Amino acid sequence: PSGLVWLRRDLRAHDHAALTQALRQCQRVWCAFVFDTDILQPLLDRGLRADRRVEFIHESLIDLDEQLRALGRSNGTEGVGLLVRHGRASEEIPRLATQLGVQAVYANLDHEPAALARDAQVRGALAHAGVLLHMGKDQVVREHHEVLNQGGRPFTVFTPYKKAWLQTLSPSDLQPHPVERYADALAPCPPALSAGVPTLEAIGFVPSNLRELKIRTGSRGALALLEDFLARIEHYGQARDYPALKGPSYLSVHLRFGTLSIRQVARLAHELHQQGVAGASTWLSELIWREFYQQILAHFPHVVERAFKPAYDRIRWEHGKAAQAHFAAWCAGQTGYPLVDAAMHQLNQTGYMHNRLRMVAASFLCKDLGLDWRWGERYFAEHLIDFDLASNNGGWQWCASSGCDAQPYFRIFNPVLQSEKFDPQGKFIRRYLPQLARLPEPRLHAPWRAPAAELEAAGVALGRNYPSPLVDHFEARQLTLERYAVVRAES
Ligand code: FAD
Repeated sequence: PSGLVWLRRDLRAHDHAALTQALRQCQRVWCAFVFDTDILQPLLDRGLRADRRVEFIHESLIDLDEQLRALGRSNGTEGVGLLVRHGRASEEIPRLATQLGVQAVYANLDHEPAALARDAQVRGALAHAGVLLHMGKDQVVREHHEVLNQGGRPFTVFTPYKKAWLQTLSPSDLQPHPVERYADALAPCPPALSAGVPTLEAIGFVPSNLRELKIRTGSRGALALLEDFLARIEHYGQARDYPALKGPSYLSVHLRFGTLSIRQVARLAHELHQQGVAGASTWLSELIWREFYQQILAHFPHVVERAFKPAYDRIRWEHGKAAQAHFAAWCAGQTGYPLVDAAMHQLNQTGYMHNRLRMVAASFLCKDLGLDWRWGERYFAEHLIDFDLASNNGGWQWCASSGCDAQPYFRIFNPVLQSEKFDPQGKFIRRYLPQLARLPEPRLHAPWRAPAAELEAAGVALGRNYPSPLVDHFEARQLTLERYAVVRAES
């Protein structure tokens, strides 16, 4: 038999569940990726031709194509490569399957509702042609149905989930899927079906600032980042909370697009944790948080639209013109709270935001500006290069207190104290808000508290080159406690 591997968010040619399964079961295997117009056209319709994610995928496909060619060559087969299509996945995959005459298509599971709907369509179209669609587990170490409580129900609290995740982990969960061992089944692309990656322009896009940012793409980029991180993992526990430091791994984008295998990362984290290497257990915990939110999305897909805890849908968020203006200021990094603004500039300029700052910026939106968490969630979804529906939704609902195992609603981050604590020397703020760079430290966290002479000496003119605060935190805090009172009875 022959098979087609349909790659989506698993853009690598090693330790790959669907690819290994196809290679083991078929004599001839081809690999394909579809630039899906159902996803891309809405961006182009909004004039968004420079998109870091599209470019990240594009660069990673070039790397993947090379890896496949090299795998083919090492088995004496020339002409192996990636088939790239541009169109609707629900049409392109069945068409390719027919053109290649395969009996089965292999892909990896994706529990995002839009992905499930797309896959159901593809499955239906393939079935018409008598072609099977096989789904592998690749995006997570443990699927949502593999870690359940004693009653067979999903966990909704992280700590017992993590305990069960670790206790029921079997070595096979972390074992790599050895593509290389079976790679002799990789078949050359038929000349009639042009292989290779089209240019970015050919799919309607133009370069973003990805290269300028030196964001490393593809599996090669992922492995270089991983190596860099492992050399400093001992400091992860302390350094990860300080946005001015190179503390975290910066691997999220690679886990998002599967240029790195989650099994490989989790195996490493688990081994280092067992060896007692400092930082490894915290890092492993973060990887388990990722799986926790993945299983929440899979079990409770209503979270995409609504609060995990229904009572929180009764909250009346600010709306109308003033609310819209506050939202626009938040998006543009113009709230007058330097740490929040620096965070938003980091997101807008680079597509990344430090985890501590995601919490601070999200909390500010819901609990200082009184805006619906879904507004912020959508903005992050549009701008984060590592955007992942499950983690983003989980993170936002955690901050808005509406999620499972979320921050209690009466815990409200003070953006000035967060700034003093996590950017004590103001290094991060200075990097993204150069107009405040000459303010001395204590003032940098709350410029409106600085005496006029100090502001003048530092060249800061509030309301002119840096905004006055949009809201007073203490008043906002009071309003938030009143706003959240509707949920008190059920919290
Ligand atoms: P590291 O600290 O090196 O962590 C290693 C990996 O663990 C990450 O790559 C990520 O895959 C996972 N991880 C770490 N923290 C979390 C967490 N809290 N929840 C889930 N997974 C985690 N993460 C995303 O990948 N995509 C998102 O769209 C996203 N949106 C978020 C929105 C909000 C409001 C919040 C509070 C958090 C969000 N996170 C999201 C989680 C976290 O902020 C990022 O995963 C992390 O900042 C990525 O940087 P890193 O790879 O250097 O992290």
